[in-house]
Amino acid sequence: MPAIRQLSNSEEHWIRNAFPEITPHDVAKYLSVHVHTAIRILVRLGLITAPSQKYQQGRSTLAGNTQRSCIVCKTPKTMNKNQFICSRCRCKQRERGLL
Ligand SMILES: [Zn+2]
Repeated sequence: MPAIRQLSNSEEHWIRNAFPEITPHDVAKYLSVHVHTAIRILVRLGLITAPSQKYQQGRSTLAGNTQRSCIVCKTPKTMNKNQFICSRCRCKQRERGLL
């Protein structure tokens, strides 16, 4: 990943003043950077949240799901990668006050 371009004070000032009337495309044009860099700059300034980051989180969550046998009832289930007890057993344990 390329390093984020350092903003001068006046550049940061301009962005903060102009936001949210400006789009990442305007920022990219103003700073003469790629629009992806502009988006990253806006994210870093806390002005927007990165859509790609959300997308990646969603993907890794899906990728973390795995087929595994529950350690209590031994039934194969699709579980989160950090989960070893199926939700039904977990629920029973909770009812018995074990969790
Ligand atoms: Zn189970």
